[in-house]
Amino acid sequence: MSQGPRYRFAPSPTGFFHVGGARTALYNWALTLREGGVFVLRIEDTDESRNQPEWTQGIIDALAWLGIEKGHPQFEGPYFQSDNAAAHVEAAMRLYAEGKAYFCDLTPEQVQERAIASGKQGYDGFSRDRGLEPGPGRVLRFRVPAGETIVHDLVRGEVRFENATIEDFVLLRGNGSPMFLLANVVDDQLMSITHVVRAEEHLPNTPKQQMLWEALGSPAPTWAHVPVLVNEQRKKLSKRRDKVAVEQYREEGILAAAMVNYLMTLGWAPHGDTEIVPWQRIVDEFRLEDVNHSPAFFDIQKLLAFNGEYIRKMTVDEFIEACAHVLSAAAAPWPADSFDPAKFRAMAELVQTRVQVLADVPSMVDFLFLDAPTVDDTAWAKATKDDWAAPLLNETVAAFATIVEWSAPELKASLEAITEARGLKLGKTQAPIRVAVTGRSVGPPLFESLEVLGRDVTLRRLRDAVARLG
Ligand code: GLU
Repeated sequence: MSQGPRYRFAPSPTGFFHVGGARTALYNWALTLREGGVFVLRIEDTDESRNQPEWTQGIIDALAWLGIEKGHPQFEGPYFQSDNAAAHVEAAMRLYAEGKAYFCDLTPEQVQERAIASGKQGYDGFSRDRGLEPGPGRVLRFRVPAGETIVHDLVRGEVRFENATIEDFVLLRGNGSPMFLLANVVDDQLMSITHVVRAEEHLPNTPKQQMLWEALGSPAPTWAHVPVLVNEQRKKLSKRRDKVAVEQYREEGILAAAMVNYLMTLGWAPHGDTEIVPWQRIVDEFRLEDVNHSPAFFDIQKLLAFNGEYIRKMTVDEFIEACAHVLSAAAAPWPADSFDPAKFRAMAELVQTRVQVLADVPSMVDFLFLDAPTVDDTAWAKATKDDWAAPLLNETVAAFATIVEWSAPELKASLEAITEARGLKLGKTQAPIRVAVTGRSVGPPLFESLEVLGRDVTLRRLRDAVARLG
């Protein structure tokens, strides 16, 4: 086993893989790589009612997509918490044998009644000294010692907890099954974890877990709790309200490198004046001590901007390859046999500089592959509202029909001549042509688009437009 630090990521597979989980995993991964340690993936699958195998596979796949992959020499796992149930129970019974835990036969309702009667929240230690043996329906509770628990947290500094405010918490349920707090600690001990870097929501668990570590005979690991992610209303990102699934961003054409870079900057920034930096620099510079304490805004617009930058960093060939998925027959809006890779290649560079996500690509080039693109009515009304629109379209059809070499410069010169003769600006006169031919008011540069589309189709669509204007 490596002598370096041992980090871990311990997700519960209860849904799609959350971007917050992905950030936590990446923080652990970056530290593992820089410090020459090990990254353990442990699937916390003990809540059988909520776990589903496909969520587990989703996490494993999404991590691999982000570059945290089985097969890397510093990656270990995945381990499954459910495989260790016997060890969890054994650890709990050891605490019982040593007097550090005790059984209690109160039902949850009785615990509640006593709390109401005494006016004090939580469990009151009723069975601490009753010497109960294990038995059906009896829960095992940890005997919280007197004093204070000081958690040294690399992000939050020293956090102090008065033990008197912590109830004797449950380790084993009445049916004998281990609780999360216990299972999580026992697994970390079994896996020789030295650093627990996880979401801030677990900070209230930490004093309890630190006591458990000590009661079980080992010094607690180094803790770090990273701040939550919030949406634009500064509310904690929730899977019901917000778009949080890594899988969904991937589907929509966010690039893994952009996602990784963006997630790392939530609560942290690389040195220097740009946040868009290669992964190796992140690995070299990332420190938990520099992570901000306040909640981090998960800004989808900023993620898109990062993605646009990453798209522009690709070579054209890489871009074309990356587009294969969104241009595939299953995803694209045109009939499968009408896609022409040569036409797409001819437009690729112009499209590459104009999209933020790969999912935007099909709508930029669909006019090339659809028989007759649907014309956006609002765009058409706007582009043809001036009196000059109909005569200009007429003249353009006639002029384009005489062009000898069908090329962007020739097309431009031709429309320029018509535009100037009418005392107009090319910025305006392109609009009706663009909407007539592509169906939309925005897209890649017009003349290059017409060149690639070809003479026949362009003229046909312009004639249809003239007819439509009457
Ligand atoms: N399984 C826990 C969760 O997904 C993580 C616990 C931990 O990181 O310690 O929230």
